[in-house]
Parts: sequence; C-alpha cells; structure tokens
Amino acid sequence: MTTATYDRTDRTASDCRAWVKDRIKPEQIEKYLDNGKCFIDPDAIERALTTNTNPEPQRVREILTKSLSVETLSPDETACLIHVQDPELLAEMRQTAAQVKTKVYDNRIVTFAPLYLGNLCVNNCAYCGFRHSNTAEQRRVLGLDEVRKETEVLAGQIGHKRLIVVYGEHPATDVNYIASTLGAIGDVKVKTRRGWGQIRRCNVNAAPMPVEELRLLNEVGIGTFQVFQETYHRPTYERLHPAGTIKGNYLWRLYAMHRAMEAGIDDVGIGPLFGLYDWRFEVMAVLYHAIELEARFGIGPHTISFPRIEPAHNTPFTQNPQYRVRDDEFKKLITVIRLAVPYTGMIVTARENAQLRREVLPLGCTQTDASSKIGIGGYADLANEDQQGDRQQFMLGDTRSLDTVVCELAEAGYITSFCTAGYRCGRTGQKIMGLLRSGQEGRFCKLNAVITFREWLDDFGSDETIAVGEKVIAQEIEQIRTRMPEVFEQFMRYYEKTKAGNRDLYF
Ligand code: SF4
Repeated sequence: MTTATYDRTDRTASDCRAWVKDRIKPEQIEKYLDNGKCFIDPDAIERALTTNTNPEPQRVREILTKSLSVETLSPDETACLIHVQDPELLAEMRQTAAQVKTKVYDNRIVTFAPLYLGNLCVNNCAYCGFRHSNTAEQRRVLGLDEVRKETEVLAGQIGHKRLIVVYGEHPATDVNYIASTLGAIGDVKVKTRRGWGQIRRCNVNAAPMPVEELRLLNEVGIGTFQVFQETYHRPTYERLHPAGTIKGNYLWRLYAMHRAMEAGIDDVGIGPLFGLYDWRFEVMAVLYHAIELEARFGIGPHTISFPRIEPAHNTPFTQNPQYRVRDDEFKKLITVIRLAVPYTGMIVTARENAQLRREVLPLGCTQTDASSKIGIGGYADLANEDQQGDRQQFMLGDTRSLDTVVCELAEAGYITSFCTAGYRCGRTGQKIMGLLRSGQEGRFCKLNAVITFREWLDDFGSDETIAVGEKVIAQEIEQIRTRMPEVFEQFMRYYEKTKAGNRDLYF
C-alpha cells in the first residue's frame, strides 16, 4: 500500500454542490447497456417467479445436484428453490447448501471487523442514519492519526488482520482520502504477546466511482471492493433515493462493478439491503448480477452480502419497513443464494443477533465480523462500551468479542481463518474463480488457516479459547498430514516457526 498525502479540510455547501454535479459520467454507464437496456429485467424476474411456483421434488433434487457441482444456477432453477415449501425438501436444500460450502471452503470461517472512517454523506437514503438530512447525527471524519489509533486497537488489542473500511459519499472522504487512510492503516504495526499484529487486507465499502478513481484504488491496493445496490427494484430504489442526489441514479450504482472490473479491480462484493423490497425479487436480481459479471468479465462476485435493515437513530423508515424479512425467510434466502451462486463467499454480519448468526452460519456462510464497533472512532474510544446511536449508521445485534466468537466457532468445529494470502499472491479474479469451482483454493486456505489461527491464539486468545482451539488445530494438522502429504513437511516448518514467534508466513 502507498500513502498519499491528504489534508482534511472543512467543505462548504457550495464545495459539495460542485463535487456532486460532476460525479456521474453517463458515458461510463451507456457503454455497458444492451440496446439501452440494463441487465435487470423486472419482467423476466417476475416471469421466472410466477412460472416456477410448484416444483416437483425430482426437479428440485436435480437442481441441488447441479449446485453441488459448483455451477451457477439459472434464474428458473433459482426461482424453483425460492418456492420450495415442503419441509423435507427444505431440509435437503439446507443440507446441500452446507455441503456446497464445505466442498468449496471446507470448515473455515474468515473473520473481519468493520471500520467506519466518517459519517458525512451527500445523499439522503430514507433508511440510513448517515443521510444528509439527519440533523440528529453527530458528524465526524477521522484524521490520519485517529485512523492509526483505531487500527492500533484492531490489530494490536483485538487481533484482526482484515477490515472492511467504510466510507460515506462526500468530498471530505473522496478517493484521495480513501487512498491515504488505507496507507495509514497499512503502516500500523503493533507488538503483541508473542509477535506483532498488522492489518493485512483492507476491503473497501465505498460509493460507486468513475473508472479513473477506481484505477487509483487499484494501484493503492485493496482487497474486495464492495458496493451494495440496496434494492434492485427500480421504482423502490427511486422512491428511497431522492432524485438529484448521486445515489438517486440507479444505473450509476448498478454498473459500479463493471467500472471496477474495467479499472482492474477483479475482486468485488455485491448485495441487496433486505427489507426494502420483496426478498424473492432481490435474490433473483443478485443472481442476475452475478450472471452478468460472469458473462461479461469471466469473474463473478467474490462475496455476496445479505444485510437486513436495522433500526437507525432518528430514522423512522427503519422502525417498521413494509418488506421486513422474517427470520425463517432470511434463512431460506441465505440457503438459496448459497445454492444459486455456489462459488461465492457469503458474509453474515453483527447486524444479526448471536443466536441467529449461530443458526445461519451452517447454511453456507464463509465470513463474519466480531468485536465490531460502527460508531466513528468507536474502537479507540475504549471508555465507551455502549453503541453510540448518533454516530452509527444503524444499531448492531451482536457486540460479542472476537475471542468469544472464535471460541464458539472452535467448539462447533470451525477453524477461524485470519488468512489474507489470496490476494497478496495474486489468487483473485479468474484465477480464484477456477480454484474455487474446482475446490483447489481450499488447499492453500487450509494450510494458511492453521498457521494464522496459531498466530492469533498465541497473540490474542484467552486460556479458554486456546484450549478449544488446540483441539481444532490438532485435527487440521492430522488432515493435512493424510490428505496433503506432499506439502506436509514444508507446512510443519512454517507452523513451528510461527509457534516460535515468526509472523505472516503463508502459502
Ligand atoms: S446509505 Fe450510504 S449513501 Fe445513503 S445516506 Fe447512508 S451513507 Fe449515504
């Protein structure tokens, strides 16, 4: 990562207006339209949903077999799964989703933390606490020293190696700010119990950008670039995102990942915000998005997220949204996404409460966060353990520590992976697609998961977590010895070096 210089300055309303005026480049949308049409065809989605309402068990089982071969499902096949009601078939779907996840990702769960760097935003999304018109929100953008302090806590006290860094859409947090803050995060190295801690991968959640800015981000070096469409249903989108704001332009957001790919960012994360419109439509649309990226670039989404709308400070829309997704529907939609896009990573976040996270993890999730604080400056503000509603985008459902979550995962037989080797070794884009579909990525990941888990236990684990974690490590080492004898010796060399205090060894 490189560090650009950035002077944080206060922006006037006229600065903001000037910045907003030129953000959207129509030619960077039009070039991707097909005869003027976008890849989301609501009629086709409705047709698929209304013609596959009562699938025969035999048909459902054929679809499940296709998923197990790690092939992306068609819209009709996905609509069939959405409509399954029979409890026995639903149980088979859940079982197959778990099998698909194990086939592609084994028993690993990747953990990360969100890091919000500012809550200034020029947009006015009806469901968001950061919206411009929310006068009850305390606004703040972190300077580079404050960013370093946040990172010191995350990397030195909690033990995270991977962040999703979140930026609002505002000239004070523009692409230069993003570049310099990523540099500041990457520079922090903190002494730990047995070695040292550092953030090794920054995924970025930011507003859609023009290609030129995305090229800069690609040069700086980022992990996954994440933009959520919020809702793919255009009339709903236009109702919730006022015209005249940047976000009010549905197509500018819809083609954000096309521009990212064009700029060389081949690791992208997509997802709807569930609760804004009918979840069935959104699942179908996110599938269409994956199919479009696969067809046009040969690379599907590295991750799909499925956040549900949560209450936000002084934001009445979030209190009782018409399309709120019930827990049983939530579990079903996660199962269907896992089956429909079998190679993708799936992220369940601390928006959801601890019990629900326990229940949905086995349906095919691959990543989760812990020790999360989403108030601006929330990590370094150690005196304040509570959530700070007037500095947050929404309220969290699960504030458990990383140690608690890691311990619980280990008790359930999962290994928490802190591996960040993939993108640092160039295993991204088409390379990772091939490895995931063939189950080969798991080979590297298994080795790196054990090494990074060892690091984390030695540097940050509580006695209880170390005790449970040792059992998981012993099982993993035995599997590597029997299943991957050709690399076992080298693996054990790295493992012993890590135990002795060496850090950041990976395959
Ligand atoms: S959802 Fe994003 S773009 Fe919309 S108001 Fe909130 S921070 Fe701004």
